[in-house]
Amino acid sequence: MPDVFADLVGQDDAVDTLRRAAASAAAVLRVAHLPAPSATVVDPDDDLAALAEADEGTATTVDPGAGMTHAWIFTGPPGSGRSVAARAFAAALQCVHGTGCGTCPGCHTTLTGTHADVRLVAPEGLSIGVGEMRALVLRAASTPSGGRWQVVIIEDADRLTEAAGNALLKAVEEPPPRTVFLLCAPSTHPEDVSVTIRSRCRVVPLRQPSAAAVAEVLAARDGIAPDVAQWAAAAAQGHVGRARRLARDPEARQRRDAVLAVPRRLTGVGTALDAASALIEAAEAEAAASVAESDAAERAALQTALGAGGTGRGAAGATRGSAGQLKDLEKRQKSRATRAQRDALDRALVDLAGFYRDALTSALRAPVAPVHTDTAALAEAGGQKWAPEGALRRLEAVLECRAAIEANVKPRIAVEAMMLSLWRG
Ligand SMILES: [Zn+2]
Repeated sequence: MPDVFADLVGQDDAVDTLRRAAASAAAVLRVAHLPAPSATVVDPDDDLAALAEADEGTATTVDPGAGMTHAWIFTGPPGSGRSVAARAFAAALQCVHGTGCGTCPGCHTTLTGTHADVRLVAPEGLSIGVGEMRALVLRAASTPSGGRWQVVIIEDADRLTEAAGNALLKAVEEPPPRTVFLLCAPSTHPEDVSVTIRSRCRVVPLRQPSAAAVAEVLAARDGIAPDVAQWAAAAAQGHVGRARRLARDPEARQRRDAVLAVPRRLTGVGTALDAASALIEAAEAEAAASVAESDAAERAALQTALGAGGTGRGAAGATRGSAGQLKDLEKRQKSRATRAQRDALDRALVDLAGFYRDALTSALRAPVAPVHTDTAALAEAGGQKWAPEGALRRLEAVLECRAAIEANVKPRIAVEAMMLSLWRG
């Protein structure tokens, strides 16, 4: 029976750490629930004291080095499974067997997002605001209703505003006894996570899984044909979710084909600017499609809640007050759409970077497999024509574009500059 850690592809070290921590956490709960004589060993009201004791090896059933702690950061490149790891660990903490068996009610409700003591923050806009964080910290301080742990998962902790980061820091510095914070971020660089928060957390680094490991999972768990799985795993460059989408979704494949057609279409200033427009518009269309459904559903739900269409005496007053709420919703939806556009554009840029990386490795005759097997011949021709230096300049132009957009340069400007660099070489 696969347990909750089975979805973490190619992350043996991290899984090892988390399993031991989950066992240690379960031991902490057992110690806390022991009758009076044993309870004098640790203060029953302070589980962190118990945690510390467990760390020092006083809990005989637990590996002394396997300590549990109340704040964790999962780091790794996009697609390496940061939030998958955080959720799996949360499930193991709530597991009635303390292992993350994958089948008990604790595991099941955590993984399906319905456990009463697991809260997930995923920013829908470009950042997580202070209001959201304060409310979360407040609720996290309550006693776990299931008698185990209060778990707070913060996806994209790198998108915390400074004020939100400070609110979180207070909670992490003085943690409620049964609360565990699980943060996900690309790295522990100060730009991603503040130094003070970092200093309070234990870091679980995840690495980019190999294409072979990703292909194996797609074939074994998702039933995807092995040759398709191998192609998709390589093309997705270690991003499990992206590989699965490429293998299953014909539209995702078409979008990728369109992006990889860019290099051979760049024949002049005009075509370069056209290619920039096409790339931006494709990202906009993809993002619009991805948020359209939830936007409409949210709007309908809010209108129903506000009594739209009502004819009673209260209806007119409700309509006047509801304008503000609708405006708030529109603001949130706009912010989410912007984020979805950036994400779609970034995926396209990663694909494009893969092409020039293939050109570079081919020009250098490096003995590595191409990222995009289906455009490998084209990349090789490019590599011969441009020589390693030219291929490297083009790869750098794509990476600079990503960095510029990350630093809030208008996407159209950054992409146009990139296309012109790619054309000039
Ligand atoms: Zn379980």
